[in-house]
Amino acid sequence: MLQPVDAMSRLGTETAFEVLARANALAASGRDIINLGIGQPDFKTPDHVVEAAIKALHDGHHGYTQAAGIPGLRGAVADYLADRYAVSVDPATVLIVPGGKVTMWFAILMFGAPGTEILYPDPGFPIYGSAIAFSGAKPVPIPLREENGFAFDPDEVLDRITGRTRLIILNSPANPTGGAVPREVFDRLAAGLADHPHVAILSDEIYSRMLYDGREHVCLLSYPEIADRVILLDGWSKTYAMTGWRLGFSVWPGELINHAEKLAVNSHSCVNSAAQYAGLAALTGPQDSVDRMNRAFAERRRLIVDGLNDLPGVRCVEPGGAFYAFPNIEGTGMDAQSLQRRLLEEAGVATIAGTSFGQNGEGFIRFSYASDLSSIAAALDRIADFLKENGVS
Ligand code: PLP
Repeated sequence: MLQPVDAMSRLGTETAFEVLARANALAASGRDIINLGIGQPDFKTPDHVVEAAIKALHDGHHGYTQAAGIPGLRGAVADYLADRYAVSVDPATVLIVPGGKVTMWFAILMFGAPGTEILYPDPGFPIYGSAIAFSGAKPVPIPLREENGFAFDPDEVLDRITGRTRLIILNSPANPTGGAVPREVFDRLAAGLADHPHVAILSDEIYSRMLYDGREHVCLLSYPEIADRVILLDGWSKTYAMTGWRLGFSVWPGELINHAEKLAVNSHSCVNSAAQYAGLAALTGPQDSVDRMNRAFAERRRLIVDGLNDLPGVRCVEPGGAFYAFPNIEGTGMDAQSLQRRLLEEAGVATIAGTSFGQNGEGFIRFSYASDLSSIAAALDRIADFLKENGVS
């Protein structure tokens, strides 16, 4: 009998991939399924970015690159961050990684061990809790509440810090809630963190370019009082519709970059070379495709949030960013798992139960509106019919 380590039994998963598999199986059997479950832009990577990768292949960039990434790309990331947030980043602290997820894995491995504690948002991206549990650290949830627009309460975060806390994970704009934490909330947290110099902060900013109604992104590197403890997670997946390229970037405190680079050498050696050239073209080339995509998301957001609020038993706070709506469904009388299952099986609409993102997700389901307007409208109609048939008024 094979005996994998105990930690394997503590690893979780991402329900989104399971729902996708079930939705695809139903579609293959002839059912008409509208998929509002999966969290990836339904747009194509911009042409000039694809062309840059093709050119890199023709130019012979077929070999390993430096483990931390090609120097031009690390420099371009530093310039990009300087342009956007007026922060000064040493390119030597930038690590190019195969997707944003790798940054969170590295950060959690670096700080998580039995006897340590890691704070993370609940509801939040499911891999945080999974990786923390795997590491042996104690997962300490930071509750996110509907009445705060799903922003964390800085006092609650600070109260949860102990001498064993090694890492705090924050995510704005957020998955699954769409919550965008206001600057004054970050201000209060950053001020309080000055009293806890032993704590690192992983700031997951993968949705940094997806904000609505004139909101501006708050990058945690822009707080001088904590910047030397911030691990920044961002990348190309969402901003440039590049989820399948597996490309992300991180910025590490100077004292950690060598550790991060060693983790890269020990795991993936380097990121796919052509993808790095594509990433360079994305950062340095025209940004109009990003704006176009965000205008489309803004229109869909209006449709889905208003449509959800018109449904009986459902209320949805306005998401400030990302491409998710996270309505409260308690008024339907169904729990999150049952509603997710029944919407898929009976109404042909794939969504994700809030409980897939942590205990505090009970009473909510996540809709990804990375889908065209007519599909969103059709899904809302189907849900309205489903609720009517089930006596929800
Ligand atoms: N962080 C959050 C909050 C996400 O929602 C996702 C993807 O869904 C990621 C990180 C991972 O991004 P990537 O596909 O670049 O690994």
